[in-house]
Amino acid sequence: MTNYLNFAVYDYSMKLIGKGKAKDIYLADNGDIIFEFTDRITAFDGAKKAEYANKGKVCCALAEYWFNILGHEGVPTHFKEKVGETGMRVVNLKILPVEVIWRNYVAGSLWRRYENKEIKLPDDTEAREGAPIPNGMLEFTTKFEAIDRPVTTQEIIDAKWMTEKELEYLRDVTGKINSIMFSHLLRKNIILADFKVEFGKKTNGKIILADEVGTPDGCRFWDRNAYIKGELHSLDKDVFRKNKGDLSAAYLEIYNRITKD
Ligand code: UDP
Repeated sequence: MTNYLNFAVYDYSMKLIGKGKAKDIYLADNGDIIFEFTDRITAFDGAKKAEYANKGKVCCALAEYWFNILGHEGVPTHFKEKVGETGMRVVNLKILPVEVIWRNYVAGSLWRRYENKEIKLPDDTEAREGAPIPNGMLEFTTKFEAIDRPVTTQEIIDAKWMTEKELEYLRDVTGKINSIMFSHLLRKNIILADFKVEFGKKTNGKIILADEVGTPDGCRFWDRNAYIKGELHSLDKDVFRKNKGDLSAAYLEIYNRITKD
């Protein structure tokens, strides 16, 4: 049976075409995509699941906040408009098959892979969780496989997922997104440890920023005062991954700190 959702603020029906980890995805009558940011949260490739009040609202509002800032700074994005408190209208794109991860600090899977002796850390990076990575680093992982796995640029090119030129563009634009978000967050006493972004191609071949950006689901945010004292105080999905307290409260705190002066 086809699923339909009628947003009160919208004058047409939308067909449910997909369910992500945290968002439901609808196709609007005019061909646009509508995201519904739900309160769902999952971690460890879907093995851990829950729902937290207001999570959808916070992530939707933060994604809108960053899409506006990035757009003004010249980063092309798929954002069109926010729809109600948890909906977002975006351009219908062909999503590229890789996720792009930018890291400013050692955390998450990078630290895990280092501890498992699978990888070396970048040059001049101390071997400890929370260590800064001078100049940052970029990684690609698969998007459309059951489990996200790191992929090399050679593998991406050999599989004909993307050209060298397209990869170069992703590198440049992700670095620019990092510079904009990093400096903005530092003014709010927040460290952007790492983040994930996705991109999609328009029918004319142009690649633009897709999915969501700058939300606690897709970034690691650390309180800078705690960091200076030697603690990693997370205001992001690590609260859920590592059972570090009340996720709704952490998400609300990061929302307030980022958006309120
Ligand atoms: N990330 C994400 N979606 C994914 C994988 C990672 O949004 O499917 C984000 C994650 O929240 C973190 C960054 O990308 O901010 C780097 O994640 P990492 O590779 O360390 O994996 P994790 O340990 O977070 O699963």
